[in-house]
Amino acid sequence: MSPKLRVYVCRYYHAEVSAAIAALNAPDVTVETYGLSCDRPVRQSIKLGGAASIPEATDRLFIGVCALVPDPNRPPPPLPERMIRLDHCLTMLSGPVLFKQAIRDGAYLVTPGWLRQWPEHLQRWGFDQTLAQEFFRDTVTELLLLDTGVDPEAPVELERFATYVQRPYQVRSVGLDYLQLFLERAILDWRLGHTKIEAQRTVQQANRKSADYAMAFDLLVNLAELRTEEDTINAIMNMAGMLFGSMRLAYGQVRANRIVHVYALPDTGMEHDRLSQALEVIGKSFTLDDGPDGFFLRIQHRRETFGLLAVGGISFPEHRHQYLNLGLAIANLCGLALANARIYSMLQATEQSLRRERDLSEQLREAMSNLSAAIDHEHLLDQVLALLKELIPNHVALLLLWEEENLRVIAEHHQLEGETLVEVELAFTQEPFGLVLQRQAPVILGSMALAQLPPHPLISGLGLQSWLGVPLLHHHQVIGLLTVGSHAPDYYNTEHARAAQMLANEMANALEQERIISEANTLAGTDPLTGLYNRRRFNEIAEQYFRQAKRNNGWLSLIFLDLDHFKQVNDDFSHLVGDQVLVAVSNMLKQLRDTEIAARYGGEEFVIISSTSDMPAMRQLAERLRREIANTPIMTMGGSVQLTASFGVASITPELQSLGDLIWCADQALYAAKNTGRNRICVWGEIRGDSQDSVPVGRLGGDAGGAGEAANPKPSDSQRAEEK
Ligand code: GH3
Ligand code: MG
Ligand code: MG
Repeated sequence: MSPKLRVYVCRYYHAEVSAAIAALNAPDVTVETYGLSCDRPVRQSIKLGGAASIPEATDRLFIGVCALVPDPNRPPPPLPERMIRLDHCLTMLSGPVLFKQAIRDGAYLVTPGWLRQWPEHLQRWGFDQTLAQEFFRDTVTELLLLDTGVDPEAPVELERFATYVQRPYQVRSVGLDYLQLFLERAILDWRLGHTKIEAQRTVQQANRKSADYAMAFDLLVNLAELRTEEDTINAIMNMAGMLFGSMRLAYGQVRANRIVHVYALPDTGMEHDRLSQALEVIGKSFTLDDGPDGFFLRIQHRRETFGLLAVGGISFPEHRHQYLNLGLAIANLCGLALANARIYSMLQATEQSLRRERDLSEQLREAMSNLSAAIDHEHLLDQVLALLKELIPNHVALLLLWEEENLRVIAEHHQLEGETLVEVELAFTQEPFGLVLQRQAPVILGSMALAQLPPHPLISGLGLQSWLGVPLLHHHQVIGLLTVGSHAPDYYNTEHARAAQMLANEMANALEQERIISEANTLAGTDPLTGLYNRRRFNEIAEQYFRQAKRNNGWLSLIFLDLDHFKQVNDDFSHLVGDQVLVAVSNMLKQLRDTEIAARYGGEEFVIISSTSDMPAMRQLAERLRREIANTPIMTMGGSVQLTASFGVASITPELQSLGDLIWCADQALYAAKNTGRNRICVWGEIRGDSQDSVPVGRLGGDAGGAGEAANPKPSDSQRAEEK
């Protein structure tokens, strides 16, 4: 709204001032009177004519106000905005030169406005004609009318007044020229004042704008520093607010060409729809708003759209295109900053997941190294499945190994009471197990997918609603699979799959390692000719048995068996035939019960240890073997070989301190058997009393005894071995 001016003047000048302003053609200026007149000076009070009707944005200018006498004892009155204070209002018409000249000449100056009411003035002063004539005769030389031409009656009234007071008079035609100049200057001053204010305001605005721009460009420069997409979007919104001075701002975050989140100032709740519609119609980089004061900018980088910025209610709609150009100039930088932020977030997520994986694999490695200390195979598997439960919550966990055409459950972890799934076999083609084998990759199935499978005892049979299977891979070969199932629907995700796969990989390695070690152990502990345990392995086992028996006060018995005159077999046939005989005798020993462990102790000497047989049972076993050997001709490449063996038996007693003691006892018994004729059994306890002499325990009918040879005893192999 452009400003207006109301000019206040003394009522005696209203007509002149109105006429002068009309002549100046200033429609924004109106004239009013104020309640003072120069013939009645007052202090501190001013009464405004038409004050109630002052319209808004109207400035007020008071001219003259010579009747308002300043009071030095009071603060200046609260005068309206502008005032041109004059020594006398008459100077508005005459100018100061004429005014001063006339006063010096003793003239009494009057105006048409004053003259119109001269009788009332004299009356108010209390003058009758005589007093008036005296007063004017004493104080003035003449009456001088400053005739403005506004009131044609003025010269007539002057004449009447002069006649009344008996003074000469004169009319000075001043017209409105001086008043017009005076008012024009006042109005121009007022306009100038406004222009100055306007200019100041514009400068202020420009300063503010340039500060905003500086801040906006600071933000723009710093955009690249921001790490998260949200921070970057907030900075873009701030920057847009400063650059466009807009009343409305909205930013739609775009993923896969859809608005996924809206930031809006103010938030009307309608922005999502508005932005979605704009996204459908927007061109390469912008579209104009329906209204006159806004536009949409596509924020993109390398053809990927990151967002849509809606700018609305810009301060100068007429400059919309300039704003738009500015927007287009910064949109690419915004796109770059958002691309950076997304990449940074992705890197962070990747780093986090790598860190999680590293932690997990450390956890696994530690767990697996503990597992390798597990005392046996079953224990190892149990521990793996317990660990799996810690990593991946489940109701059922199974480990299946691929054996020929089938998968076999070898370990389980569940809470199915009294039920075991171990040893359950299934064809490797059965779904979903087959799928894991075929893909050699994790398979995650939710409740929907599981419902589509044919009923399976290990899936629907267990009430599973989620299932995850990962392959056990060793050198790209599937050796089995690890599965977990949950009663919760759609429970497993790729994180679970990754953790399970890592565990499965470690497990496959551990199982393979275990297999290799057990193979190596078997090889290291086995006699290559006979396949029986060798002496080293036998000692290990026997040591363990001995400790257990001592600890538990249990049984432990040992049989030494030495083939009689075996050297002769070699000599008569050949070493090869001798070997065949050794293998044949070993095969007989392999038929023993699991609790009786046989080993080749050296040469043609064997040992049997049992932790479950007492002495009578052990003696019986020795007797059975003695008979079997003696009665079984052995078919060899050199023909049938018949031979016998001697046996020494000993059992643990409280006095025996070590395995060596027990071996020594059994060896002594064997020595006794050899000494007393071979093909016989001697028991340590029974030979103790007669020192080196054997106690024959049995000579069964039909076997070729060698009792007569006892005269020339010699130590057994084992004894020699101990002696070495
Ligand atoms: P005795 O009844 O006193 O035990 O007489 P022996 O001949 O069996 O005992 P001796 O200790 O004198 O001989 C053992 C023989 O066993 C000597 C050795 O040639 C033979 N021998 C040891 N190991 C093997 C083997 O691995 N293969 C063959 N063929 N012979 C072996
Ligand atoms: Mg022998
Ligand atoms: Mg021997």
